[in-house]
Amino acid sequence: MSDAIRGSCLCGAVVFEVSDVTPIQYCHARRCRKATGSAFAPELLAPEASLRWLSGAEQVREYEAPLLDSPPAYRRAFCNTCGSPLPNSIGNVPFVALHAGVLDDDPGSRPFRHAFVDQKACWHEIVDDLPTYPGRPPVPEEYGG
Ligand SMILES: [Zn+2]
Repeated sequence: MSDAIRGSCLCGAVVFEVSDVTPIQYCHARRCRKATGSAFAPELLAPEASLRWLSGAEQVREYEAPLLDSPPAYRRAFCNTCGSPLPNSIGNVPFVALHAGVLDDDPGSRPFRHAFVDQKACWHEIVDDLPTYPGRPPVPEEYGG
């Protein structure tokens, strides 16, 4: 495995490490906007086995949204004190999903595509040339797709 990448929540209670992260996907899905309060979620995956809670593991709570059409359910982990989004398992592959904004280190990976642009906020304009997908893009083969 490559070097550990450290992340933490806003209040600092929760600190974690992951490694071997994927490129960053900008997800414009309505639920990802709700979960972040932002125009889109800059999400990436890391192998579940690489996740280490360095502090505050007992502060981590998980919310599972009602199923829209098919599993896996939409899950969000967050700090019980400050609400920052934290890594959570995604159910069907041995990876955790997290938002790049909670990382303190450079993950080494960069944004590579936009997902669910059909649900994009009307007030947000995509101004880069990355590939866009109207719905869910394929999971790259190396990540269990
Ligand atoms: Zn916190």
